Amino acid sequence: MLLSTQTVIHEALHKLGFQDDMFELLKEPLRLLKVRFPVRMDDGSVKIFTGYRSQHNDSVGPTKGGVRFHPEVDENEVNALSIWMSLKCGITDLPFGGGKGGINCDPRSMSLRELERLSRGYVRAISQIVGPSKDIPAPDVYTNSQIMAWMMDEYSRLREFDSPAFITGKPIVLGGSQGRETATARGVAIIIEEAAKKKGIDLQGARVVIQGFGNAGSYLAKFMHDAGAKVIGVSDVYGAIADPNGLDIDYLIERRDSFGAFSKLFTNTITNKELLELDCDILVPAAIANQITVHNALDIKASIVVEAANGPTTIEATKLLTERGVFLVPDILSNAGGVTVSYFEWVQNNQGYYWTEEEVDQKLQKIMVDAFDNIYRVSKTYKVDMRLAAYMIGIRKLAEASTFRGWI
Ligand code: NAD
Repeated sequence: MLLSTQTVIHEALHKLGFQDDMFELLKEPLRLLKVRFPVRMDDGSVKIFTGYRSQHNDSVGPTKGGVRFHPEVDENEVNALSIWMSLKCGITDLPFGGGKGGINCDPRSMSLRELERLSRGYVRAISQIVGPSKDIPAPDVYTNSQIMAWMMDEYSRLREFDSPAFITGKPIVLGGSQGRETATARGVAIIIEEAAKKKGIDLQGARVVIQGFGNAGSYLAKFMHDAGAKVIGVSDVYGAIADPNGLDIDYLIERRDSFGAFSKLFTNTITNKELLELDCDILVPAAIANQITVHNALDIKASIVVEAANGPTTIEATKLLTERGVFLVPDILSNAGGVTVSYFEWVQNNQGYYWTEEEVDQKLQKIMVDAFDNIYRVSKTYKVDMRLAAYMIGIRKLAEASTFRGWI
């Protein structure tokens, strides 16, 4: 993950005329904190967990990015994810660099009280390097607004003043923003609309397949359904269901569990691999990384692939898809709606003045459409794919800010 990101960053900086010293600065995060901390489990035993916080580059402003609770979290992953956050903030022109954190754990096997103690322990362990004007966490895979609330409460206790701007993705009553819960999916939906226009595909009746039915995937399915598209396949970690006539999305949302799982309710399931290869117009990987690789890129039938997950398509697979004329919109653009509304939440917390959902949606729409147009224009001007164009725009701001600061 980190290696392929570095390859594209190198190419982007080269195209923009920056020298190798800039690549040396930006190829890895400036800071990575690894922590080990104890958590008392419900049976009285104590378990030691390992967590990370990675801060890619703070030349533009404080760093910002989610916290992931997952058994595969490691140094390499948080480092790559924090770089992607920098790129997303560059693309959407937010005054942040990228950050990312995570705890190596399986939250599905933990009780609510254990999760609370885990969340609070993590904040105590990383508290020195985070804060409203240093590094602002948010939700990511298997973390949610309740976990953000515990983390905000712990940070406020440590600092001895209420600090809503320390973290985003909070419940509305604690200073969360209208529209944050659905922001990533709404952003993806806006990008799908723009991509469909470029490919001359009418969203009315367009066949959409979505891998993953958590925060990003399930709300996106709803938005696509409401826009008149036919969602013909969706999946979770255990399997997928498909129906060429369209699925009942409201029913699935009602029945899925808090980890985005629903497929165990069905007997006629297919695999995630089969789901990705379904005949459709628009494919949205919205689960985890490395789902479209050299092994299945030639079997993908969609004419548009919009990456809602982080890193679902490898660099080699991107080339294969692009050669076949598939229009691929990269993750750092398509899923940037999450960090954009997180930024809105941080602004509102700092102002103590709160916006309506319509205001949030309007502002998000403008930022996403502008970002898409810029990247599309650069991809045409430089004759490069959308991923490289997105990297060029994302990295330029960091490179310029680092130059002005005299770092290079
Ligand atoms: P989530 O935890 O709410 O849901 C994840 C979904 O993916 C669930 O349906 C789960 O069953 C499924 N899944 C997990 N492992 C899988 C596997 N091996 N194969 C197939 N499906 C699997 O997570 P989310 O917040 O919806 O995030 C999904 C993706 O979107 C991640 O890559 C995340 O980094 C990215 N993303 C999320 C946000 C956000 O605001 N939530 C913002 C930007 C990017």
